Amino acid sequence: MLNISDFNNNLLVWYQANKRDLPWRRTSDPYRIWLSEVMLQQTQVITVIPYFEKFITNYPDIDSLADADEGRLLKDWEGLGYYNRIRNFQTAVKEVQNTYDSKVPDDPDAFFSLKGVGPYIGGAVQSIAFNNLLAAVDGNVLRVMARLNLDYRDMTKASVQKSVKQNIEAIMPLEAGDFNQALMELGATICTPRAPKCIMCPVQGHCEAYKAGEVASLPVKKKAKAKKEIYYNVYFILNDNEEIILRKQEGTLLQGMYELPKYDIDTSVESIEEELGLTLDHPNLHVGSVKHVFTHQVWYMEGYVLYTKDAHPDFISLNEVEKLPMSKAMQKIYRQFEG
Ligand code: SF4
Repeated sequence: MLNISDFNNNLLVWYQANKRDLPWRRTSDPYRIWLSEVMLQQTQVITVIPYFEKFITNYPDIDSLADADEGRLLKDWEGLGYYNRIRNFQTAVKEVQNTYDSKVPDDPDAFFSLKGVGPYIGGAVQSIAFNNLLAAVDGNVLRVMARLNLDYRDMTKASVQKSVKQNIEAIMPLEAGDFNQALMELGATICTPRAPKCIMCPVQGHCEAYKAGEVASLPVKKKAKAKKEIYYNVYFILNDNEEIILRKQEGTLLQGMYELPKYDIDTSVESIEEELGLTLDHPNLHVGSVKHVFTHQVWYMEGYVLYTKDAHPDFISLNEVEKLPMSKAMQKIYRQFEG
């Protein structure tokens, strides 16, 4: 049986003495805290730091981000991936500008109604910025809680995550923001996936997995599904004016980003000509091969050069290409062409 006040006290005292000095921990501005949490979803702390600093320089407050040009925003986000995060964030920030006088709402219901705000972001921002008693359950927290409670349930299930969230909120002290951050920090630095440092753990005395010698078997891992492999030919279609075809993506997760025309490897050049309305000269010039691994897919891309003398609305000067936002996968194959 967990002694709640001892547990909370041990955890909070440890956190105050050991927390990492991160740029978003030096501010109490709810907008900046929110921005950091959006970036930290699915991206590691070390990667996020320079992006966070760039964003608070370029977009220091709600109004500057709400009014920013989408293309420039995506360009600044380039490299962080999961571009829907920044698009949703801008939509939400615009609503804060219009509906809440540019002030992040401290009412959880109002905040949760904003675009892109799910249980994690909502709990994190509301607790850290306003000390509202809501848990912020990420992968680190799920691992810590599975081990503390000797919990063999599948932590990837939404129903289990909901129950873990309720369990945390049942023991949460008034210092909600610090408490959430302490649990996350413990998972990130001590109760790590491999080789946890139980010997240094501030809550070792409360840990059921440690007592049972079961730390290594928790959390229970589901067998990872094999990633889907996709093969593309990517075309560098050039004309005599040093221009190249780059298409702006619409209606996909990468909306607003630019990409080279890419086709399933079985697509013939004749059908590409038909689709683009161009006559293409194909000298079989192979630019290079690139593999890019996404969360659920692996892309294998082969790059080829094609020429045309025809006009097309998507032609853009080669000098302009580097100013446009492009996904990491596209940047990789484009670098083959530049090199
Ligand atoms: Fe994690 Fe070990 Fe601490 Fe338990 S004792 S919470 S397993 S670091």
